[in-house]
Amino acid sequence: MTQTAVKQDNAPDMIPFIDLQAQRKRIVDEVNQEIQNVLAHGQYIMGAEVGQIEERLSAFCGVKNTLSCSNGTDALALGLMALGIKPGDAVFVPSFTFCATAEVVAWMGATPVFVDSEAETFNIDPQGLAQAVEFAKKQGLNPACCVPVDLFGHPADYDAIEDICKGDDIKIMADSAQAFGCRYKDRISGNFGDLATTSFFPAKPLGCYGDGGAVFTNDDDLYAILDSLRIHGKGTDKYDNIRIGMNGRMDTMQAAILKPKLAIYEDEIALRNEIADAYHAGLGDIVKTPQVAEGCMSVWAQYTLTLAEGADREAFMAHMKSRGIPTVIYYPKPLHMQTAYKDFPTGTGAGLPVCENLGERVVSLPMYPYMPDDHISRVIEAAREFFA
Ligand SMILES: *Cc1c(COP(=O)(O)O)cnc(C)c1O
Repeated sequence: MTQTAVKQDNAPDMIPFIDLQAQRKRIVDEVNQEIQNVLAHGQYIMGAEVGQIEERLSAFCGVKNTLSCSNGTDALALGLMALGIKPGDAVFVPSFTFCATAEVVAWMGATPVFVDSEAETFNIDPQGLAQAVEFAKKQGLNPACCVPVDLFGHPADYDAIEDICKGDDIKIMADSAQAFGCRYKDRISGNFGDLATTSFFPAKPLGCYGDGGAVFTNDDDLYAILDSLRIHGKGTDKYDNIRIGMNGRMDTMQAAILKPKLAIYEDEIALRNEIADAYHAGLGDIVKTPQVAEGCMSVWAQYTLTLAEGADREAFMAHMKSRGIPTVIYYPKPLHMQTAYKDFPTGTGAGLPVCENLGERVVSLPMYPYMPDDHISRVIEAAREFFA
């Protein structure tokens, strides 16, 4: 979810991929008031709004503890630090994700072990995970943690993942950066795994006006460690340092801006689902549209098509562009094939065929809650024209 994907104002007849200003128009007065409040009280770091948004995020998810933080990457790092992940540990991550999921594992000096994805949900494949755990043991690594990603807004298969992890006491940290508010059976994001993280990067489903993130957990002991880690490993105060931590705080300004955004988020999730339904109704018969697994709800960070094997994706994207419709590839290259990550192991000891194939076939369509009906029909018409 790059900044370039947010704004496409270079060609006047291009519809936006995401139009963040549409939401701003709806809550402009509330947001301006929140900003004025912060300017007036001047508590730019750890002001009252930080605690307020944490309480409201906890209430939204029905989770015991929310720790707001600087961004979604630091949220993952705080989580791994709190779990005590260290060199010699294997941390199982999907290869088909944004790089931050694996990057933080390398920060700890631990070994990311890349796992293949399910073609249907784009998420970590539980069978691949089971194979990766055995592979890691054979390599002399300690299977310590799994970081499932709720990719494109759809939850990973937590029941299956938990079944595999509990035997070896493998901790689970859900990377819900793209999926705050998604549902898996009777659980809502924030309640997956031992702890879960999210990002409030502006283009994520729930975004602020800068960087922001959060860690969620129902485990009070883990929360106490996270709270210390976020402010340089503080003990009784920040000049009492009892562990190595970081500066991981969320700005008061971002917390304040999130308050009115969270207030309309449930409604926005519903709007995203209506758009996904319209896309599915308009395109489901001619191209592979994304499916929602039984008992799950996606928040549709992305609406991602899987083109037929051998279809000309470049030609599809060029055709859509000629009709004024931007499309983006999330993700062209799985992490285990990236320069920075190619020397880390995969759970097969070889390639990861599903995500390598997905990298060649996926393409995402414009998606945001306020997408006008005529833009939705234009996307559908243009895509049908290509596949006809
Ligand atoms: C965006 C994203 C992150 C990182 O979030 P930032 O707030 O940009 O640091 C981590 N994981 C996934 C899957 C993401 O999409």
